[in-house]
Amino acid sequence: MHDHPTSLDQYEWPTCITPRCGRQLWVAEAGRYACRPCEDATARRLRDLPGLFRQLDTTAMLMRGARRPGGATSGSKTPPIPPRLEVLALVGPGGIAARLSAIEDAWRAALGWTVAPWRGNPTQAVPHLVGFLGNNLLWACSSYESVGQDIDDLCKLHSECAALASGEKRPGRVQIGACPTVVGDGWCGTQLTASTGSHRVHCGGCGGRWETLGEWRELRAAQDAVTVEQATQTGAAA
Ligand SMILES: [Zn+2]
Ligand SMILES: [Zn+2]
Repeated sequence: MHDHPTSLDQYEWPTCITPRCGRQLWVAEAGRYACRPCEDATARRLRDLPGLFRQLDTTAMLMRGARRPGGATSGSKTPPIPPRLEVLALVGPGGIAARLSAIEDAWRAALGWTVAPWRGNPTQAVPHLVGFLGNNLLWACSSYESVGQDIDDLCKLHSECAALASGEKRPGRVQIGACPTVVGDGWCGTQLTASTGSHRVHCGGCGGRWETLGEWRELRAAQDAVTVEQATQTGAAA
């Protein structure tokens, strides 16, 4: 009597390698490491990343304020939005670009390709990195044994970015000072708020709107001008 290694009791149907997926692979997927739904979801997340990066990068610019590098400036020292370290870290040199780049390097090594060319700063690099990973995703899901971990990392990266970009995480809205719009012979003065999830500031008092970095700078400059003028008037009245 001898065992039949091919007996159905002992045969384990292959499953997707992605952590927390574990779907049984279809016959048409035989030989793959990751299932097709995991591949599709990852492709969608990759497509989202450049847009999320741009949104967070704009937020980061607003957080850093309108200051020119190098100090001596006539502008305000207060950034329009209080800095959030998670946002600055994600768009900085160790953030989204570095995490995508680590995956590209690993895939290139597995493919036996040369190392990736220098892709520039994170703003320049992210679209190229996403392009490389998207173009080679089918290969990775089919033939790269560590793809499960990479799919999981991309999923985490995407949800971190999406949560910050949507302003889901606190502190959400923050006070950014009074509305400087001239109304009659004074100023509107309504308290303005901003959120890390939207680049639009809307005044509920006078209907004023500011949304681009240039407009944010104008808003900040106008607020500073009002402060100076109010101080002057107070001085003159005293
Ligand atoms: Zn899967
Ligand atoms: Zn207003």
